[in-house]
Amino acid sequence: MPVVYFVIPCYNEEKVLPETVKRLTEKLEKMQSAGLADRGSCMLLVDDGSRDATWELISKFSAENEFVAGIKLAHNRGHQNALLAGLMTARKYADCAVSLDADLQDDVDILDEFVQKFLDGCDIVYGVRKRRETDTVFKRTTALGFYKFMEKLGVNVVYNHADYRLMSRRALDALSEYREVNLFLRGLVPLIGFRTDSVYYDRHERFAGESKYPLKKMVSFAVDGITSFSVKPLQMIFSLGMITTFVSLVGVIWSLVSHCAHGTAAWIIGVWSLWLLGGILLLCMGVVGTYVGKIYGEVKARPRFLVEQSLNLPAEVKKN
Ligand code: UDP
Ligand code: MG
Repeated sequence: MPVVYFVIPCYNEEKVLPETVKRLTEKLEKMQSAGLADRGSCMLLVDDGSRDATWELISKFSAENEFVAGIKLAHNRGHQNALLAGLMTARKYADCAVSLDADLQDDVDILDEFVQKFLDGCDIVYGVRKRRETDTVFKRTTALGFYKFMEKLGVNVVYNHADYRLMSRRALDALSEYREVNLFLRGLVPLIGFRTDSVYYDRHERFAGESKYPLKKMVSFAVDGITSFSVKPLQMIFSLGMITTFVSLVGVIWSLVSHCAHGTAAWIIGVWSLWLLGGILLLCMGVVGTYVGKIYGEVKARPRFLVEQSLNLPAEVKKN
């Protein structure tokens, strides 16, 4: 039987944690009796520098419940880094780890299927949403646009898969070799390879608390995803430059001709094309700047997370 770890990043999740812990404890008990999870399996709650009572709750639960382990990050590092912190901790003790959100929007009933696929020899199992009914129309269309755009750029992402996935220890070891600071796990995990499969589920609504992904974070997450995996935007600038050069050349000739023929005030066209070019140039500088900023972050290679405290984890690291 495998030792299974559920890795759960938590940021200000005091409202949902009691219910989450309750449901996952029941789940782990069932999985143990069904022969899907060995003793020592647990949920690893990662406190991502929460400002509310999340860590107090995790400490309380871990003291009274053997299925709860916790780590506390030194400060808020964001969902992806918190997830990585949990996975990198889990890989020391578990045979496989499933990442899921604290709000249990992802259906926990399919956890058995995940583990079953792992037992059948898969190293990575993706949880894929069947439908997106629980999302707002806005989130649905932007998400669809994002996946389509990524596809166009040649980035391999699994459609309608968020961060609900199982990874074997082998896959986690491989993931630990990727040292990029600009973390976008959805794009990174497909690069690992190994045997993969998917399970399908319906996503629920968050049952308490609020989404920690406001529009601003969603946009920066999407930009991060694109610029971490593709340099196509840079190549697009080149094409854009060619097009604007060509168009402006035509414009210049045309205004010259019309000026000579009818004495049109050519400076009007001149003024507007100046603004247009200025805009395009600034935009392109922004794109180049985004990449330069990323290089800056990568070169410094600061630690992606720092663990301040851990609770209820085994004293010994599991050997292969
Ligand atoms: N989260 C985190 N750090 C952050 C933001 C979010 O660890 O800075 C966690 C959060 O606690 C939750 C998961 O990431 O477990 C997904 O966040 P949320 O449910 O708010 O996102 P949504 O489902 O609305 O996309
Ligand atoms: Mg959520």
